[in-house]
Amino acid sequence: MNIAFIAHDRKKADLVGFTIAYEHVLKNHQLYSTGTTGEKIMEATSLQLHRFKSGPLGGDQQIGALVADNKMDLVIFFKDPLTAQPHEPDISALIRLCDVYTIPLATNMATAEILLSGLKRGEFQWRDIIKGNEHGENQE
Ligand code: PGA
Repeated sequence: MNIAFIAHDRKKADLVGFTIAYEHVLKNHQLYSTGTTGEKIMEATSLQLHRFKSGPLGGDQQIGALVADNKMDLVIFFKDPLTAQPHEPDISALIRLCDVYTIPLATNMATAEILLSGLKRGEFQWRDIIKGNEHGENQE
């Protein structure tokens, strides 16, 4: 599965801890991230991620583009609800696209844990079916 990671600055340590805990699961998947988030994950684990631009410089939108192309299967986004972000419109756009394309999205660690448990149990296979059908005429 293709999995994207994003964490706002005050949540980066939590996300790094999360990826350490789930490294054994995540190493079997294709991982993507915004710039700084990915750098921190790669420093702390042996995971390899494709890093997009930093969030405020367009990284959330780059991940959103993959969502719009139905190429992202899971988005783990540790949001900071207590700090204003300069790129709030990009964040809202990414969340909106996950809803448009019915992509599983975790915005906090509790939800992320449950989604990773599902991933471990093979409960994301429906994504392969959807992706198999993505050349249908309804994909605009
Ligand atoms: P960053 O971007 O990983 O480059 O810090 C995340 C964000 O703030 O959206």
